[in-house]
Amino acid sequence: DEFELDREYQKRVIERERKFFEELKTENEVFDKRTLMILFSLLAGKHIDEFIGVISSGKEAVVFSAKKGRRYRAVKIYRVATCDFKTMHKYIQGDPRFHLRKSSRRQIIHAWVEKEFRNLRRAGEVVNAPKAILRRENVLVMELVGKRGVPAPRLKDVEVDYEKFYEIITRDMKKLYCEAELVHGDLSEYNILVKDDKPVYIDFSQSVVTQHPLSKALLIRDVKNICNFFKRKGVDCDYRELYEYITGE
Ligand code: ATP
Ligand code: MN
Repeated sequence: DEFELDREYQKRVIERERKFFEELKTENEVFDKRTLMILFSLLAGKHIDEFIGVISSGKEAVVFSAKKGRRYRAVKIYRVATCDFKTMHKYIQGDPRFHLRKSSRRQIIHAWVEKEFRNLRRAGEVVNAPKAILRRENVLVMELVGKRGVPAPRLKDVEVDYEKFYEIITRDMKKLYCEAELVHGDLSEYNILVKDDKPVYIDFSQSVVTQHPLSKALLIRDVKNICNFFKRKGVDCDYRELYEYITGE
């Protein structure tokens, strides 16, 4: 019957991907069973044809590159075991889009991913950001920013025209604030990729809506990070002026 067919299909998929996950294990990458099942379900559901490799592996999340037809995906997987869910809870709580009733560790992480997914979509309407494709529990699938599966470099790792980039980035920060009503919340040369000589913003996990009680403090932090980076690159800038420019205050 259909269920059995599905099982057969999954078995084949699992077989094909076993090597990939075997390699992961040797790199000490341990996912819980539930997360592995989600990754397999992405393959079985043909949302992804194959996982290619690890782009980044941090304390809280791993980012894989993957292929779907001729397109490439970035798959961000939150590590349920090591996520700072207390901080996550604080960010979600003040967000009018969310009402957390029950709050197990996993549920908070799911809400976190949901929030990142929605933030990406909202930000993508006004600035360059990877297209959010789907989310499932602690897993987020988005467009891979890069060329032929090779991720674009971070602003911190390439030479650009810094005067020009300062202008574009500060204009984008204003757009994000005034039009999308979002504050990135973790903006720095680490979370800006450079593609076709333009900035692409990533990692909207900490972003909050402007009504959020933390939004002002986060914006000040973003503004300081950006100013410090560009000052080091010889751009004349002042974080108070930038804050005024963005908020109109
Ligand atoms: P970190 O703690 O290192 O900042 P993170 O958990 O915050 O990691 P991200 O910043 O979203 O996760 O992603 C980590 C890295 O993976 C990024 O610095 C970037 O190099 C790469 N990356 C993430 N998303 C994409 C994408 N859509 N396309 C290309 N590369 C990506
Ligand atoms: Mn990041």
